[in-house]
Amino acid sequence: MAEITLEFPDKSKKKFSSGITAQKIAEQIGPRLAQAALSAKLDDKIIELDLPIKENGKFSILTWEDIEGKKSLWHTASHVLAEAVTSLFPDAKPTIGPPIEEGFYYDFFVKKNFTPEDLAKIEKKMMQIISEKRKIEREEVDKKKALEKFAQNKFKQELIEEFAEAGKKLSIYRQEKFYDLCKGGHVSNTEKIKAVKLLKTSASYWRGDSKRESLQRIYGIAFPKESMLQEYLKQKEEAEKRNHLKLGKELDLFSMQDEAPGTIFFHAKGTQLWNTLQEFARTEQKKRNYQEVIAPIILKKELWLKSGHWDHYKDNMYFTKIDDEEYAVKPMNCPGHILIYANARHSYRDLPIRMAEFGLVHRHELSGVLNGLFRVRKFTQDDAHIFCTPEQIESEVKGVLELAEHYYKTFGFEYRVELSTRPEKAMGAKETWDKAEASLKNALKASGKEFKLNEGDGAFYGPKIDFHIKDSLGRSWQLGTIQLDFQMPEKFSLKYIDRNDKEARPVMIHRAIFGSMERFIGILIEHYAGVFPVWLAPVQVKVISVSDKHAAYAEKIHEEFVNQGIRSELDARGETVSFKVREAQMQKVPYIVNVGEKEETAKTIAVRDRTGKVEFGIPLKKFAERVMQETAQRK
Ligand SMILES: [Zn+2]
Ligand SMILES: [Zn+2]
Repeated sequence: MAEITLEFPDKSKKKFSSGITAQKIAEQIGPRLAQAALSAKLDDKIIELDLPIKENGKFSILTWEDIEGKKSLWHTASHVLAEAVTSLFPDAKPTIGPPIEEGFYYDFFVKKNFTPEDLAKIEKKMMQIISEKRKIEREEVDKKKALEKFAQNKFKQELIEEFAEAGKKLSIYRQEKFYDLCKGGHVSNTEKIKAVKLLKTSASYWRGDSKRESLQRIYGIAFPKESMLQEYLKQKEEAEKRNHLKLGKELDLFSMQDEAPGTIFFHAKGTQLWNTLQEFARTEQKKRNYQEVIAPIILKKELWLKSGHWDHYKDNMYFTKIDDEEYAVKPMNCPGHILIYANARHSYRDLPIRMAEFGLVHRHELSGVLNGLFRVRKFTQDDAHIFCTPEQIESEVKGVLELAEHYYKTFGFEYRVELSTRPEKAMGAKETWDKAEASLKNALKASGKEFKLNEGDGAFYGPKIDFHIKDSLGRSWQLGTIQLDFQMPEKFSLKYIDRNDKEARPVMIHRAIFGSMERFIGILIEHYAGVFPVWLAPVQVKVISVSDKHAAYAEKIHEEFVNQGIRSELDARGETVSFKVREAQMQKVPYIVNVGEKEETAKTIAVRDRTGKVEFGIPLKKFAERVMQETAQRK
């Protein structure tokens, strides 16, 4: 009997008879894994647990702990959704329905938009289908048979023609009564799904193309346990309260307007927050000998051809013509910094050069994926490029690790680190990679920070380290990166004169810690629920006059705060004190300063903090010192 060899994540290899299923393998490993298994991975493919395996490869069992495991459950739920919709709305044509980062969606061609009542009905039908414990089965078909099977659905037919053209295998996934064109990646029985929630509908276009048919998209999520859905809904409600779009409006931080889709209008308070963050980054970078630069935003086509962006990134770039010459708006800051580096001769004594820029970049994103501050078309990176010798990689990476630790701690983020190494298709000699990877590992070990190793997941131009932070809701965000780059210095023939007076090639390290300023601000708003610590709060102190009589004294107090560099606002309107206090509280201002008869006579102030505690008779100087100290300490 034929045998196959599978390599497990721990690198161990085992032989099995050909045709064994992943389910059987999971059972051999242990009952707990067999119970938790959702699907499996063979090389890059997600396969069903009951699919006979006939090829050698890298193999792993996927559970809810793996994003791909989650996706196999969500993918199956999307098929169940399609069945539920077509059984309730026989005219609806399913188009495509993939799993996404969180849940799944399915796009339907329908005559009438779905209503919230429809969603409730569909959800009920889905639960019924799931309870029938439908087996999911794969069938491979040829083009003719596929076209026959989907004779009533021109969307599927278009896909079939296209897949056949590209020489792809066509397969159909059947859950007894319903079948769908699909390349696979499912759980093997609908019973694995224990809870489903349909979240919302939205409009979409066939193939994301606004010139083609309008579709209705239904978003949903599914779980292998009912309690997980309850947990998810609770967290979602909390996240809803902290939603940065809602808080952004309430706190008057920013807006988005039709005149510039995918870009942000930062209002005065949002800009203050932005500037505080920049000042923080500037101060920390200066301490570590970074030099700040400002490069142009629009640069000639030739540069982008040379950097490779023209070939690999064109679809996401904006272009313009100036004096009949072609230009592009930069999607990345690296080429600008390279030109600054290359503008002078460098000796090994000059290195490392740590070049930083709050780099404004534009990247075209489809309007459907734009999402508040999280996904925009124009954003600013806290970018830096370190040009160094190969020997300096380790100490430079150490420096960035230390900087990242300092940043994330300041905002109260826990974080984890991942190291991605040489992929199959990589540029540069293997020895160079090995050395660079060893430097990264050494730096990580020296930092004492545990890290996850993603072997073969690096960019083709160099290994990288990623930072994933956890916010106060326990959500994970990928923020910073450190990427080693052997390619750009080569492409641009960057040089330095080494110790032996010979020309040598520097290494380039791309690094960002906030990542995108816009996205980071969005994360911060939700992380703090708008209740910023004193050092970040756009308004630190609100001075409130108790009555008109004390307006002048209130103004004097406010002016003194402003003169001392405290971000103060004055409310001397003729409204009642309680009204003004309530408004300031809604604005989540850290300190509310009341000024009335008693205060004016004694030349003191009364201070109310965010917990509602009021302290009377405080000398202004003493309070100002406290605010300034809290600001300096970034408390
Ligand atoms: Zn599918
Ligand atoms: Zn870069």
